[in-house]
Amino acid sequence: MPYLGIDVGSVATKVILLSDHQQIEASVAKPTLGEPEKAAVSALERIRKDRPDLNGLPIAVTGSAREFIGQRTGAVLVKNEITAQAAAAAHYFPRVRTIIEIGGQDSKLILLRDGLVADFGLNTVCAAGTGSFLDHQAQRLGLSLSDFGRLAMRSQSPIEISGRCTVFAESEMIHHQQSGVLPEDIVYGMCRALVRNYLGSVAAGKELEPPVAFQGGVAYNPGMVRAFEEELKTRLVIPPQPEMMGAIGVALLVQKETLSHHPSVNERAESLGL
Ligand code: ADP
Repeated sequence: MPYLGIDVGSVATKVILLSDHQQIEASVAKPTLGEPEKAAVSALERIRKDRPDLNGLPIAVTGSAREFIGQRTGAVLVKNEITAQAAAAAHYFPRVRTIIEIGGQDSKLILLRDGLVADFGLNTVCAAGTGSFLDHQAQRLGLSLSDFGRLAMRSQSPIEISGRCTVFAESEMIHHQQSGVLPEDIVYGMCRALVRNYLGSVAAGKELEPPVAFQGGVAYNPGMVRAFEEELKTRLVIPPQPEMMGAIGVALLVQKETLSHHPSVNERAESLGL
């Protein structure tokens, strides 16, 4: 039996359809736009349109409005984002010890030991270093997100941004722009500042042991990947759909829970030693 995982994000609401062999059969992301229920229902409808046979599947929800969306969608499991992100990472990368997760409006650090959450850090208050800040800066510089990433990879002498706060960072960048600094050096200087900010806040006092996975939509940004890799002096492990890891994680968790409550005939027979 397949399973549905929903992750209600600040930027996008994602739905994953996971087969009983834990393969991704479908994935849909809809802009949340402040209306998580609308986004979740529309993503579910999208999946059900292609697969009308899927009514009544077990649903699990994570993300910011998870309790509410859980009720509205008849979910059988609601889990916090740390547990969901960790479950997906442990499934795909069993050796991973550190997860950096950066989404639209918050960033997280999860330390895994033997596939279990040993510690975590969160930043839900400061916008610096989140996807929305990057989106805003790209827009301000007249760049698409893919141009932004490409430019960041070209930078040879990134600017130094000292301010930790986004307001100061923005004014420092404007100053450099007006002084004729190359856009690539501004863009990559910003990525480096965001990474230092993350390491000094979310990850303060924590040991980021490799292997390190990078999850959340910001992992698509090659400038942020480069800055983390240079700062941590290690290559990052990036899943093919980093923004989907929360939805995948809850789908894996609901499968595990469903099977433990309703073991298949074979599993029941095995547990009875038959
Ligand atoms: P949330 O779960 O909070 O909705 P996501 O994990 O979906 O957030 O991440 C959203 C962020 O990911 C966007 O704000 C954007 O900065 C970044 N992002 C998404 N797609 C891309 C892309 N193709 N290239 C660069 N950045 C991207």
